[in-house]
Amino acid sequence: MISKKIVIVGHFGVGKTSLIRRFVEDVFSADYKVTIGVHILKKTVHVNDKEVNLILWDTEGTDDIEEIRKAYLLGTHGFIFVCDVTRPVTYQNIESQTQYLKDNFNKVPIISIGNKSDLLPKGSISEKKEELEFLDMLVSAKEGNNVQRLFEKIAKLLS
Ligand code: GDP
Ligand code: MG
Repeated sequence: MISKKIVIVGHFGVGKTSLIRRFVEDVFSADYKVTIGVHILKKTVHVNDKEVNLILWDTEGTDDIEEIRKAYLLGTHGFIFVCDVTRPVTYQNIESQTQYLKDNFNKVPIISIGNKSDLLPKGSISEKKEELEFLDMLVSAKEGNNVQRLFEKIAKLLS
């Protein structure tokens, strides 16, 4: 079986830990516990008749990816950049942040996603998608929307 290291990055409180917990354990909690350092969880997904073991690195939130310890990012096969669709501050620097990753991690794919889509007023989703056209996907760790699809998508890119 192939194993792939995926690092989840993004500002504090955007839902990185919640997304991983929804995907791996299928649970959600409204309590906010700050991630300290890095947590690593694993889950296997099936794509294209292959099994891919995703090793998910849940990093401490930071407004600037350059502040993440270099050791955490070594050997990464894919990045997921998470922002919170209700807080523009979490996506206003997305271009420079993803550029930093592209410059330093040549050819490592990056999926950019907007979490907390459940907080968008019903009926405003397609409008919001247009406004956030730089994002690959909108997801909700709380309700589970698109979470499985997100991790299958990155596994497919890498398998
Ligand atoms: P992290 O700092 O990026 O790891 O963020 P957390 O996963 O700890 O989540 C921060 C806060 O946002 C917590 O209170 C979560 O319950 C909440 N949260 C995370 N994902 C969602 C979501 O999809 N919808 C809603 N409504 N709240 C969420
Ligand atoms: Mg966290």
